[in-house]
Amino acid sequence: MKPRIGFFDFTGCEGCQLTVLNLEEEFLELLELVEIVEFREVMSGSACDLDIAFVEGSICRPAEEERLKEIRRKSKTLVALGACADTAGVNALAHFRDLKELHHEVYGGEYPQMATGLPRPLDALVSVDHRIPGCPIDGREFLQVLQALLIGRPPQLPSYAVCVECKLAELSCLFEKGQVCLGPVSRAGCNALCIAAGDRCRGCRGQIDNPRSGPYYRILEDHGLSAEDILEEFRTFNVTGKAERHED
Ligand code: SF4
Ligand code: SF4
Repeated sequence: MKPRIGFFDFTGCEGCQLTVLNLEEEFLELLELVEIVEFREVMSGSACDLDIAFVEGSICRPAEEERLKEIRRKSKTLVALGACADTAGVNALAHFRDLKELHHEVYGGEYPQMATGLPRPLDALVSVDHRIPGCPIDGREFLQVLQALLIGRPPQLPSYAVCVECKLAELSCLFEKGQVCLGPVSRAGCNALCIAAGDRCRGCRGQIDNPRSGPYYRILEDHGLSAEDILEEFRTFNVTGKAERHED
């Protein structure tokens, strides 16, 4: 019998699920190996038990809490899919704003389905077995994580910095152009996509393990950023404090 997998979404832009769907041929090949039993973006129906649940989005409403707990109950393995699920992502910037004011700014008024609490990551409510960081996730990393789970190995996230992938891609360093970049302390695995696209690294994949013990922090400090400045920069994607988590 094929492993039964499902995709679930909470508060987020659904870009991480789209990244999975954008795998196209590889996604179709996946169907040879697994049975997709729930995936609202592409099919109807729901499953009462799963081997692996990939869960996207952060938790903002009481009904979401109940639904997440139900997904946890029926899944052997639960994987946080993307920054919103892992750290509450950019949604968590709401922690710095008045919620009512924010609702009016975003929706122009009040809606029955509106968030009633501040966005929280999945592991604030249920146990999370593995995570795939990034905003959005990297499709190849999703495949690697799934492959590891299917053969019974714990998935490994890269422990080195985005700078390594940036240098391998032969990109010019933004610091040489007088710009700030979080690449020296951010977890790799994205192939320095943002730098290649003309932007800077904003740390959507969280920090590398023990960044303060490596030479990376010193690079940032040499360019005038204090440890507090660096953490402040990380808050774009890591308001809930996961930037300081080193347990991987
Ligand atoms: S992590 Fe980024 S791409 Fe994924 S759902 Fe959240 S906002 Fe969208
Ligand atoms: S600091 Fe940024 S631009 Fe410079 S090498 Fe590292 S990732 Fe690339």
